[in-house]
Amino acid sequence: MEESERRARLVEWFDAGHRDLPWRRTGDPWAIWVSEIMLQQTRAASVVPYWTRFLERFPTPAALAEAPLDDLLGLWAGLGYYARARNLYRGAQQVVALHGGVVPREREAFAALAGVGPYTAGAVLSIAFGQPEPLLDGNVIRVFTRWDRIAADPKAPATQATLWARARALADGPVPGTLNQALMELGATLCTPRAPSCLLCPVRAGCAAAAAGDAELYPRKAAKAVRPREVYVAGLVVDDAGVWLARRPDTGLLAGLWELPAVAGDAPGALAALGLHAEGEGREITHVFTHRHWTLHTYAATGRPSGGDYTDFRQVPLKALDDAGLTGPALKALHAWAVTGAPRRRGAGRHR
Ligand code: SF4
Repeated sequence: MEESERRARLVEWFDAGHRDLPWRRTGDPWAIWVSEIMLQQTRAASVVPYWTRFLERFPTPAALAEAPLDDLLGLWAGLGYYARARNLYRGAQQVVALHGGVVPREREAFAALAGVGPYTAGAVLSIAFGQPEPLLDGNVIRVFTRWDRIAADPKAPATQATLWARARALADGPVPGTLNQALMELGATLCTPRAPSCLLCPVRAGCAAAAAGDAELYPRKAAKAVRPREVYVAGLVVDDAGVWLARRPDTGLLAGLWELPAVAGDAPGALAALGLHAEGEGREITHVFTHRHWTLHTYAATGRPSGGDYTDFRQVPLKALDDAGLTGPALKALHAWAVTGAPRRRGAGRHR
C-alpha cells in the first residue's frame, strides 16, 4: 500500500469516529502538552478527571509556574510517576522565563523544555501546531512492527531508527496531527496487544502481519525485568489532630512526597529509630513500582516521629489528606487502616 493511501485511510477512519476525549476538542498547546504528559503512563479514561481539574487550577504555564510544587503534587496524587509532574512544573517555569509564558512552536525550543522527549515534542508540535513532526509510542510501535513484521527488538537502536523513519515518512503529509492521533488511536482500539481487530482495520490491506495471521507475535516481547524487593516497617500515628506524615528526600524515588514514617526492616521494634512505638497486629501492604517491589509492614503507633532520611514531619487533619501529596503506598496504607479522608488511588495502566 502506498504511503499516501495509508495516510488517507487512517485520517478518514479517525475522522469518522474517534473516541471523544476532551483534549481532542482544544487547540491550546498547553492543554495538549499536559494531556500528553499524563497519558504517557496512564489510560485515557483515568486521565480525563485529572486533566480537567489540572486545567481548571492551572489554565496556563504561568499559573503552574507560580504555584507551590505541593499544589501540583496534591493534584497529581493517584496518577503516579511523579517525575512527570516535576518535569512539567520545571517546563512551565522555563516557558515563563524563556518564552514570555507562551508555549514555543519551534521544535528546537519546545524539545529543550524539561520533560519533553521526542514523543512529547512530536505529539504537541503536530497536534497543536500542525507541524509534520513524527511520534512513536508503545501503540505506534505495535502498529509499525505489525505492518512490516519487524521481529527485531523494538528498543534496539537500529530498530528505533527504522521505526522513527517510518513515523517521519507518514507524518510528512497533510494534517500530521490527525495522522499521528489516528496511529495512536489505531493501536489503542483495534491494533491491541491481544486479539487485534484486523477485520475492522482501515489499513489491513497493507499489513504484513494481518496477511500472515500472526499479528500477536509483534512487537517482540522484552525479557521481564527482575524487580528488587525492599521491606519497610511504617507507623500510623493518628489522633484527633490528624495523621503524622513524613516528607521524603528531595531527590530519588517519590521525591518530596509525604508518607507514613517508615524505616527499612520488618520488625515493629525498628520504628524506635523514628521515635515511635508500635502497638498490636500489623497490616501488610505491597506496592509494585516500575523498577522495584515494596512490602510495607504497617503498625498503629504512638510517639512523635523524627529522624531517618526525612526532610520534614507534619500532622495532617484527615479532611486535608486529599491535598497532602501522598505517595501511592501511603494511600494504600491509609485505606488498609480505614483512615477516612484519604483520596482513592485511581487505576493507572501503561499507555492509553
Ligand atoms: S491489520 Fe491488524 S495487525 Fe495490522 S495494523 Fe490493522 S489491526 Fe494491526
